[in-house]
Amino acid sequence: MTDGSPARTLQLSPDEMRALGYRVVDMVVEHVAGLHARPAAGGEPRAELERRLREPPPEEGRGWESVLERVRADVMGPMSHVDHPRFFAYVPSPSNFVGAMADALVAGFNPFAGAWPVAAGPAQVELVTVDWLRQLCGLPEGAGGLFVSGGSMANLTALAAARHRRFGTGDFSRAVLYCSDQAHSSILRAARVLGFAPEQVRVLPAGAGFRLSPAGLERAAEADRAAGREPFFAMASAGTTNTGAVDPLAEIAESCRRAGLWMHVDGAYGAPAALTDEGKALLRGMEEADSISLDPHKWLFQPFEAGVVLLRDARALRDAFRMVPEYLRDSDLAAEEVNFRDWGVQLTRSFRALKLWMTLQVFGLAAVREAVAWGIRLAEAAEEELRASPAWEIVTPAQLGIVTFRFAAGDDDLQRRITAAMLRDGWAMLSTTELAGRAALRLCTINPRTTEDDVRETVRRLERIAHAEAG
Ligand SMILES: *Cc1c(COP(=O)(O)O)cnc(C)c1O
Repeated sequence: MTDGSPARTLQLSPDEMRALGYRVVDMVVEHVAGLHARPAAGGEPRAELERRLREPPPEEGRGWESVLERVRADVMGPMSHVDHPRFFAYVPSPSNFVGAMADALVAGFNPFAGAWPVAAGPAQVELVTVDWLRQLCGLPEGAGGLFVSGGSMANLTALAAARHRRFGTGDFSRAVLYCSDQAHSSILRAARVLGFAPEQVRVLPAGAGFRLSPAGLERAAEADRAAGREPFFAMASAGTTNTGAVDPLAEIAESCRRAGLWMHVDGAYGAPAALTDEGKALLRGMEEADSISLDPHKWLFQPFEAGVVLLRDARALRDAFRMVPEYLRDSDLAAEEVNFRDWGVQLTRSFRALKLWMTLQVFGLAAVREAVAWGIRLAEAAEEELRASPAWEIVTPAQLGIVTFRFAAGDDDLQRRITAAMLRDGWAMLSTTELAGRAALRLCTINPRTTEDDVRETVRRLERIAHAEAG
């Protein structure tokens, strides 16, 4: 090998870089353009993938053509597609190509999005994009936040900031936080990671419609206060993952005010519905929150990873997270220049804002609003199709793109067998959940590529599967 050879410098010639890059783009375009014609669900058993992929790292390079072919066949092949128009499980991630290319640009330029002096342009775009989301959520000027990996990290970041505001670095052993039993589990993990004991987290039973009861919240906080504990934080859901239910945010805001609680709204899944008139009405009161989580990698159509946390008073982030060790002092700058490394857990951080910014620049907010509205309508179409057959009972009606239901003549086990059979079939993918102690099938229809026919045909196929499984 000669000095400075391509292998040793880990470089390709400009022509080879282009050839590799174009091939990658072709692969992604084939994936996206071919989605409708392929199964939604897929995978292989561990043993089979061990056989295909287990090996020592190759001592000699193999050339990118054959490596890419393996990636296509053995890595990206055996999986379900969360961007597939008939992927209705969990919360899909119907990402878009502009967002994907933005991520490619970010990987290529590799900005260090933690410090203004190193990446000023990216920091300004993040400020602007976060501010668009602030306006979407109705928070006042002065509110702010940052991009994080996803909703889990957004919830954790908000909880850490709220705790610091109340307790500083002092004793929080009597602190109590509240959420409903429909809240996303990430808040429980955040509490554990942040060192709260299990008994410091009150999981309140949801009331009617699987919504957190404001009166129940206030009573719980009063009882804790009377017992000498220090209630400080409540999380409401702007769209639960289970049913799309929105907690009564305006009333909860009043309860939080009276009880002296920081109000966090988990809008990881549902907050973008505020783009539509219908969603805005449902989410009334979200603008009263002290902090809000969003997940642009769900209903704002971005590739993983993209979460956002917003704080009514953005200074609370800096108070909670800022550290200035000696080796970072010369990048600690003027007040109006933001070092996002001071606002969250990550020092080195990727430039996640670009994908949402570019998506909005290229397609416009109106197109995103229409895409969200379409997702809401599709769940209504699914509900209509379900109601048209006596085989089904609706558990929760279509809300924010989620409908839950049961095969009326079956027990819990049958509901799960229906889902498993559809998974084996691969045509569509859905998931089950448990509501009021009973299994329910669940469709989440937030992919703008999904057609009404996709949804109706899925319901019809489910019914055939259900009858076959019921024997
Ligand atoms: C998905 C989700 C989360 C967790 O977000 P991740 O991006 O998966 O970390 C939190 N809350 C709600 C309501 C969610 O739907």
